[in-house]
Amino acid sequence: MNYDVIIVGGGPAGFTAGIYVARAMYKAIIVEKSVPGGQVAISDIVDNYTGFIEITGSELSQKMLEHVMKFDVPIEYSEVVEIWKEDKTFYVKLIDDRILTSKALIVATGASPRKLNVKGEAEFYGRGVSYCAVCDGAFFKNKVVAVVGGGDSAFTEGLYLSNIVSKLYLIHRREQFRAQPIYVERLKQRQNTEFILNSVVKEIIGEKKVSDIILENLKTGEISSLRVDGIFIYIGMVPQNQILRNFKELKYDENGFVIADETTRTEIEGLFVAGDLRSKHLRQITTAVSDGAYAGTMAVEYIQNNF
Ligand SMILES: Cc1cc2nc3c(=O)[nH]c(=O)nc-3n(C[C@H](O)[C@H](O)[C@H](O)COP(=O)(O)OP(=O)(O)OC[C@H]3O[C@@H](n4cnc5c(N)ncnc54)[C@H](O)[C@@H]3O)c2cc1C
Repeated sequence: MNYDVIIVGGGPAGFTAGIYVARAMYKAIIVEKSVPGGQVAISDIVDNYTGFIEITGSELSQKMLEHVMKFDVPIEYSEVVEIWKEDKTFYVKLIDDRILTSKALIVATGASPRKLNVKGEAEFYGRGVSYCAVCDGAFFKNKVVAVVGGGDSAFTEGLYLSNIVSKLYLIHRREQFRAQPIYVERLKQRQNTEFILNSVVKEIIGEKKVSDIILENLKTGEISSLRVDGIFIYIGMVPQNQILRNFKELKYDENGFVIADETTRTEIEGLFVAGDLRSKHLRQITTAVSDGAYAGTMAVEYIQNNF
């Protein structure tokens, strides 16, 4: 077998798992299809990860990457398209058809932004529609943008954008927010920010790029048009669970997150699911890192007991 442990996903969970496996002197590899750091790399300021009073997402991603490299865990920048198990061997197929094998497998593929699924969203993606303020915010200097959502991400990224844009609308379908009150208070203080509540986006319109969004007020039924240059969508995350499709025994919650206890063990011997992909109440860097530590430790224990 090529490796003791293959780790799919180079976010906080996957990186931490890699560190734990390497420190136990087992041979690991991390496969990452995009940028190191996962969602952290697209976050603005992180101020709730213990030990880092305030750090940018890109800096924290870089530190995590350096930590993994210090323990010589190789990172393969490629996409995993299929995984399966025969006897006690895990097979991991990459997008270029190469196949890696291992004794244990940790899947830490996280989650990706949920779409509004309205007309114009796909058409104007990259032309005014965005899911990443840190990536695209600079294109909207002194422009008018809408942020959709009522959770932490909508507010932290709204705070980031309000420093750049001339006007920011926060659009939320309810009156109450899921976001932590500290973020809500901070955004309320911003002079250039207006909240539009009990409202949903029905359509995104424009010619070459976004020019307006159509809103429906859920209380009054009123339909209105709002002129914006951009719309940033933060309405939750969907689990990246597709590569697990061959493992029929796995259990999922109603939103498609994998059910495993805090040890990250699954119904499949030797397969561990860590981070945002696991069904849990709180999806944060801290909880992803905790899962990664468990997954790395449990994978090593599994190999010690079975090989
Ligand atoms: C905008 C935003 C702001 C946030 N702010 C904070 C904050 O301030 N504090 C906080 O604690 N948390 C914050 N979070 C949440 C936090 O980033 C996540 O909980 C955490 O990153 C989850 O880590 P993870 O390793 O489980 O998954 P992810 O970070 O999602 O990483 C998964 C990785 O797997 C890779 N991957 C997926 N599928 C494949 C495949 N098939 N093959 C290879 N690689 C694959 C992805 O490219 C990704 O890099 C924020 C999230 C967002 C989106």
